[in-house]
Amino acid sequence: MSQKLLCKLQPLFSPETVDGNHGRRLKERMGKNGKGCAIGIDLGTTYSCVAVWLEQHGRVEIIHNDQGNKITPSFVAFTDDQRLIGDAAKNQAATNPENTVFDAKRLIGRKYSEPIIKNDMMLWPFKVIAGDNDKPMIVVKYHGKEKHLFVEEISSMVLTKMREIAEAYLESPVKNAVITVPAYFNDSQRKATIDAGVIAGLNVMRIINEPTAAAIAYGLDKRTNCKKKRNIFIFDLGGGTFDVSLLTIKGKEFKVQATAGNTHLGGEDFDSRMVEYFVEEFRRKSKLDISENPKALRRLRSACERAKRTLSWTTCTTVEVDCLFQGIDFCSSITRSRFEELNMDLFEECMETVDRCLNDAKIDKCKVHDVVLVGGSSRIPKVKELLDDFFKGKSLCKSINPDEAVAYGAAVQAALLSKGIKNVPDLVLYDVTPLSLGICIKGDIMSVVIPRNTTIPVKKTYCYTTSADNQSSVLIEVYEGERARASDNNLLGSFDLFGLPPAPRGHPFDVCFAIDENGILCVSAKEKTTGSKNEITITNDKGRLSAHEIKKFIQEAESFRAEDKKFLRKANAMNSLNDYIYKMKKALKNDYINSKLSSEEKEKISSAITKATSLLDGGNNKPGEIEVLEDYAKELKIMFEPIVGKIDLFFSFY
Ligand code: AMP
Repeated sequence: MSQKLLCKLQPLFSPETVDGNHGRRLKERMGKNGKGCAIGIDLGTTYSCVAVWLEQHGRVEIIHNDQGNKITPSFVAFTDDQRLIGDAAKNQAATNPENTVFDAKRLIGRKYSEPIIKNDMMLWPFKVIAGDNDKPMIVVKYHGKEKHLFVEEISSMVLTKMREIAEAYLESPVKNAVITVPAYFNDSQRKATIDAGVIAGLNVMRIINEPTAAAIAYGLDKRTNCKKKRNIFIFDLGGGTFDVSLLTIKGKEFKVQATAGNTHLGGEDFDSRMVEYFVEEFRRKSKLDISENPKALRRLRSACERAKRTLSWTTCTTVEVDCLFQGIDFCSSITRSRFEELNMDLFEECMETVDRCLNDAKIDKCKVHDVVLVGGSSRIPKVKELLDDFFKGKSLCKSINPDEAVAYGAAVQAALLSKGIKNVPDLVLYDVTPLSLGICIKGDIMSVVIPRNTTIPVKKTYCYTTSADNQSSVLIEVYEGERARASDNNLLGSFDLFGLPPAPRGHPFDVCFAIDENGILCVSAKEKTTGSKNEITITNDKGRLSAHEIKKFIQEAESFRAEDKKFLRKANAMNSLNDYIYKMKKALKNDYINSKLSSEEKEKISSAITKATSLLDGGNNKPGEIEVLEDYAKELKIMFEPIVGKIDLFFSFY
């Protein structure tokens, strides 16, 4: 029988049984009406974090997971008998690398054929294939069968875990959530994140940008001293993404001036550089190449990530992996300066982005009042040093926790969007669109309708004209990006506007771009001169999950949950039987108890041990059905406890 199934599956205690304060605590958590709360979720590349606004206390609580950690790995794993999410998934990653999925945020809303994905795939131990519409699909083995999963499904599993963490804390179902995304996420990435939320059974009240959420966390703290306008620069370097934003805070108004970033730069890239360095060293020393071995790479990567963190507070550290490959141990060391050298180009790229953001905001760096560090990778000393130099010695703000600030801000926003919640901070948030949006006009030219860093929500209508005589329809292609040639940008979608009246070239029609609070775009076109209206709206559905698919995945998520529940029930039943086998064996071995048992009772216990053991083995190392196990555990309780119950010493003995 698998040893893993013997672990304690029950919570260590339930608040109800520990003391009588359960009711009071529940009310404290949920606000005095005891109503459900809206939560804020920071869905990270490597870790996720969930928080809630506590109405009665007028503060945010960052919620611990079942392991007591405030951050939960964004990992999902599949085995022959169960699905694991969070710490449990990450902990077994080295032994089950092909079926342990992480980095979903690097894939979400992207196309399989994007070169950036191809590069990542070389580093991932799990398999990614192309699905319909060039959507990436993750291949895993679950219950012995190959399963193809959409990235949205993987992200939805992480979101489900975060929701469950909040529900366990609040002791009530949670439906509403604000989810954060990197400021630089494009339209498809945002929409795919919303879809993941829907599959997780959440009502996604709003998608907000990570640096903006962090600014809320920071600004709430500081705003008492903020009567005048204050320029705040947020530097958010996480596990897989990098964002910067310049905000001004004045009174209750939080206004993003500009944002810039790279949705594919972060701690994992720094880890990869170290992994490459040690793969080379191992090759040199042992003449063996581990670059094609996912297990060895995963173990080396974990050791490198630990070393990278250590180098944030020491100048040299060791990297050790027992039996890394073909029984050979690996032991080496790395200095902070070597780590910095390996990543210098990436750190410099971060600083170029900082510069670009300030340029876009048209704010000189000496006018920045506070520089706030967010994201785990902002702890890297070289990064801080470069920022220090850039801002000419301005002290960097360390008063907020870089791991929690984003979830904190999301929780405040969730409370603000919930009706009837009192005691919420009074603030108004204005965010911006990270990329320019426009349409393709004659000559493959990008005609920008909404320039990047425009405050949202926004609606703009431009008048365009036909390019040929008697043109009856026009193709409208919507792009996002900064390149002058439209086709070099990202095509979001296209539609035809039919029904134009016969007219010489130069006939006018309107194109309207509208971006809502979530940063989601709708484009429509209208011909109005003849009085006939043609209006079409596109919502970038291409590459997005259809309503039918989402419905299917919600059902699938239910069946995953049911399977998880079934697995736990079976594990509990097996634990229970195991417990009885242990107790019965111990009773038979104990001289005192033995002397008090009749030979008939001993016989009964012995045969019960044999039957319980065979049920657990199921004859071929496969345990029996749940009901059979549960029924027999009940039978044992009825049979065994009266026998041993008559022996006073038995229970004190145990
Ligand atoms: P986040 O996405 O904000 O949770 O950041 C996670 C990333 O931060 C991971 O790549 C971690 O390895 C990295 N990280 C966390 N703590 C440190 C540290 N002390 N030094 C360097 N990197 C860190």
